[in-house]
Amino acid sequence: MCGGSSVCPEGFMCAVGDRRCPVQVTATDRLLGPDRQTRTMSHGTTGSGDDCSTEDANTGSGSRSGSGSASGSASASSSDAAFEFEVVPETDQSFENALSNARDGRRLSVADGIELLTTGTDVDGIDPARKEQVLELADRRRAEVVGDEVTFVANVNNNVTTACNTGCLFCNFKDPAAAFERDADAGDLEFDPEDRAFTKTPAQSRAIVEDAVDRGVYEVCSVSGLHPAFALDEEHREVLAAHDRPERVNYRPPEAYVTSPGTYVEQLRAMNVGGVHVHSMTPEEAYHARRGTDWDYEAVYRRLRDAGLDSAPGTAAEILVDEVRDVICPGKITSGEWIEAMEGAVAAGLDVTATIMYGHVENEAHRIRHLERIRDLQDRTGGITEFVPLSFVHERTPLYDRGLVDGGATDDEDELLIAVSRLFLDNVENVQTSWVKFGDEKALKTLNCGANDFMGTILSEEITTRAGGSHGQFRSFDDYVEMVTAIGRVPAERSTDYRTVRRIDPDDGPHGPTLGPRADGTPLLDDDGSRSRNRDRDRDRDREGAGGGRPVAGTDAGADD
Ligand code: SF4
Repeated sequence: MCGGSSVCPEGFMCAVGDRRCPVQVTATDRLLGPDRQTRTMSHGTTGSGDDCSTEDANTGSGSRSGSGSASGSASASSSDAAFEFEVVPETDQSFENALSNARDGRRLSVADGIELLTTGTDVDGIDPARKEQVLELADRRRAEVVGDEVTFVANVNNNVTTACNTGCLFCNFKDPAAAFERDADAGDLEFDPEDRAFTKTPAQSRAIVEDAVDRGVYEVCSVSGLHPAFALDEEHREVLAAHDRPERVNYRPPEAYVTSPGTYVEQLRAMNVGGVHVHSMTPEEAYHARRGTDWDYEAVYRRLRDAGLDSAPGTAAEILVDEVRDVICPGKITSGEWIEAMEGAVAAGLDVTATIMYGHVENEAHRIRHLERIRDLQDRTGGITEFVPLSFVHERTPLYDRGLVDGGATDDEDELLIAVSRLFLDNVENVQTSWVKFGDEKALKTLNCGANDFMGTILSEEITTRAGGSHGQFRSFDDYVEMVTAIGRVPAERSTDYRTVRRIDPDDGPHGPTLGPRADGTPLLDDDGSRSRNRDRDRDRDREGAGGGRPVAGTDAGADD
């Protein structure tokens, strides 16, 4: 460790405090060898999309020659980097035995999982016939566990800020927090929905969610960069402000920035509109909300729950094997701390989701170890409502730009990852596929190899503020009904926690959400992207009569409008 020097040789404002320093942790350098040494910090990559933000990632999937390595060495997905991982896809199991175990419904071992994911370590690459056997088995298991419904949720993304100093090498969402400071050269970065870089005040978040709830959404999903001015609440801010070296805990006062995000509690209260389900606070954000203190995760999540948090996304998991994290996100919490945070969330009474981000430098053994940790966590807590595979999108990421990877997962790998997740995670009912990551056609195919959930509508402020034109990353209920019925399945609207599922009659269109607090079956958007006039009228009437949503106590709502 560097001892917390504020004069970092990389010019990095230390964001890690008592965590591993991404400058001093030289795992990547070590793994790459002397010819490929490179620093792992990133200062200000551009682009949109964030692994943290499960439903916010950009589109596109890469192509690379399949890993599926049968060799004794790691099958890193990099073009020429030789990652000498300790965890490698070697087993004493055979593909046939692994398939037999899966067919008989036995709990799969790590070796079984590796055999299925590689279609056998005795062959090079993916064997097409074996792959089909795995996919068919997973599809059958899906039908047994959750039936033929394909679920989706009416949701909106409201990410608060892109400011982040953590420097994950797979991320193209972040912007360096220094650029948001009042005296930054980068100019005025006041919030503008058309801007890529942004920080929103609680009042701005409130307005976005109000609009979305009026349209009928059930859930607001919010995942953000780790803005240095973010604190859990005022008590936490006092602790951080009193720190003898605030830079060691990645803290800068709100006054230093053009726009303050407020506190996490203020943001959650602001987004808690009229009973909407608030899905937010990943383990990494929970770490940020307790940095510089000895508060445990359960206590932190309890405070967040009191502020309106309903469930926590299990993003920031990436690959839960530290030798991989050391390469792709050395500034992030360890896999053990991710687990600890998830356990704290469940202990605080929250449902959680779980994710995997794959298709970068890891190999099949890492993927299965990851699944094992998720399965163990679910055995202990029972709090995981869904598993969300996130295929790495390589474009405009430091991993790709620096030549550490030459693409993402192949189609074969994507299909097998979903199928084996279904077979391996025998205690998680719902496996999600992503039209954002895969596109419609491929996503529909993955619904036939183990997945049963089709994520959400992903209404966003960029969409709702734009009348007409492209709807961008958005799927209407009519889109969903058309796609799901086309593959012979049953479309169904769900709540975030899957406890409420409403089958949709394809012949009874146009289709809109009914589960949101102000949903009445009207489509989320009119054909031209504008708001339903009826819904405007109903909202105005409701506010006059019932006072609208909960008051925004403790926020600066209104002050920045
Ligand atoms: S924590 Fe990592 S993945 Fe999340 S915004 Fe920051 S750099 Fe990106």
